[in-house]
Amino acid sequence: MSSEEKSLNFIEEIIEADLASGKHKSITTRFPPEPNGYLHIGHAKSIVLNFGLALKYGGATNLRFDDTNPVTEDTEYVESIKNDVKWLGFNWAQELYASDYFDQLYEMALQLIDKGLAYVDDSTSEEIAAQKGTPTTPGTRNKYAERTPAENKALFEAMKAGEFSDGAKVLRAKIDMESPNMLLRDPIIYRIKHAKHHRTGDKWCIYPMYDFAHGQSDSIEKITHSICTLEFVPHRPLYDWCIENLNTFPSKQYEFARLNMTYTVMSKRKLLQLVNEKMVKGWDDPRMSTISGMRRRGYPAAAIREFCDRIGVAKRDNLIDVGLLEFCVREELNKTAQRRMVVFDPLKVIITNYTQEYEELTSENNPEDSNGGVRNVPFSREIWIEREDFMEIPPKKYFRLAPGQMVRLKSAYIIKCDEVIKDEQGNITALHCSYIPESKSGSDTSGIHVKGTLHWVSAAHAIQAEVRLYDRLFKVEDVANAEGDFKDHINPDSLQIISGAYAEPALADDSSGLAFQFLRKGYFVQDTDSSTSKLVFNRTVTLKDAWAKEVKKG
Ligand code: ATP
Ligand code: MG
Repeated sequence: MSSEEKSLNFIEEIIEADLASGKHKSITTRFPPEPNGYLHIGHAKSIVLNFGLALKYGGATNLRFDDTNPVTEDTEYVESIKNDVKWLGFNWAQELYASDYFDQLYEMALQLIDKGLAYVDDSTSEEIAAQKGTPTTPGTRNKYAERTPAENKALFEAMKAGEFSDGAKVLRAKIDMESPNMLLRDPIIYRIKHAKHHRTGDKWCIYPMYDFAHGQSDSIEKITHSICTLEFVPHRPLYDWCIENLNTFPSKQYEFARLNMTYTVMSKRKLLQLVNEKMVKGWDDPRMSTISGMRRRGYPAAAIREFCDRIGVAKRDNLIDVGLLEFCVREELNKTAQRRMVVFDPLKVIITNYTQEYEELTSENNPEDSNGGVRNVPFSREIWIEREDFMEIPPKKYFRLAPGQMVRLKSAYIIKCDEVIKDEQGNITALHCSYIPESKSGSDTSGIHVKGTLHWVSAAHAIQAEVRLYDRLFKVEDVANAEGDFKDHINPDSLQIISGAYAEPALADDSSGLAFQFLRKGYFVQDTDSSTSKLVFNRTVTLKDAWAKEVKKG
């Protein structure tokens, strides 16, 4: 479906109305991550939405780092975020930092003080909390609210000059201590924090609070549509109050439901715990819901974008089946991934009547892609096949290899199993087979029809490989709402390692980051842990949805 055929989501409706009425000539959106962790698939939803709207309506999107909390933020995160947004396929109009506005924000705070709309409060955080009241009882103002603008200005300047310790004073907006919205009960807009900031260093020891900084940053950038998630609905009156009282650009906030997905967690706080407590190998562990984890897992950016489009823009919280994301990955890779052969559990096949040293055969890279081309695959007297593709005593309708039975080797020849070789314990160590020279794929004149086709790898040319199979990181669907600590629900079997696999040589030296379809096995991507002597592959996704079948059976 093209975007024109799809019905508009509620944000698109608002934007079209704003453009039609002339309220805005063009739109500007922003993606505003706090650089305190790596981005996850929930952020991808926000990125695809914000950048997607600007692309659709010919506007611009800023990448703005909401870096107002010096304690948790880091440049490593800034770099990873930029990398992830680019990898997802988007270009920002400007790279901006809320911390670049610290001077302007400070001036704005002074303006509020001048207007009698902000005051310095010396109360402790406990006192402030107690005076705030409860959702059903109004709060009460303390004596500090009586300070004159001149007193407040002097104190605020002294706060900035570093004359007070952390927590000794705060600057509060003077709004309404009786408001049913607790966030309007004289919210704190500046606090003292003697901490080094990842960009401003030691210049500041007072930092603006999120609500004040965020809305005003939007205004400074002339963001027309500031899109955030539903938990910010109660913050909107404060967002509007600041803009109104500072008379700045009238940015408007719109909220949509955050993405939640089954069998995973998506808060940076929890993801950081998994990393710090070494329950995963890092932020980019292929089992993580992070964009960097998904990239390392082999998920194509196009599949993530497609997933974000398909789930749409909801106004109520919901839980999306991770199976839908995997479906999008599979669909994209079926179209784009080149095919390769890798044997996971090797059984030696000796082709006794093959007398050449070896020959290069050709195999198509992707039957779904007419421009996919072909590659060379070496064939020789000794090959590896999958142990499970042979049965000594096969059941009826067994079309793989068995004594006296024939199969086709993909892109090669038909072979027949003549003899089973065993060791002293009776374990099968090799098969002696013969091949039919006239049955070569592409020029088969043998007239023999076989039903089974096996993948294989020439033993002399094979590269050793380790294959990492991933399962869901959590055992329960709704991790965030499951009982107990979320870490209690970790799936202990989320990683299975196959160490003795053999890969065809065309898989060597691949740093493309693109996933391949390993014939009959699934989609796999080369991992950065690979070396020239040993390749490491991550399973991106299975060929079919084994999980859905399990659920139906179960
Ligand atoms: P988390 O709770 O995971 O730490 P956050 O909201 O604190 O996320 P920010 O860096 O503040 O993370 O988020 C940047 C933007 O991404 C915000 O506009 C936020 O609303 C949006 N966002 C974060 N998580 C999701 C999600 N699960 N679904 C949709 N948008 C999200
Ligand atoms: Mg946040």
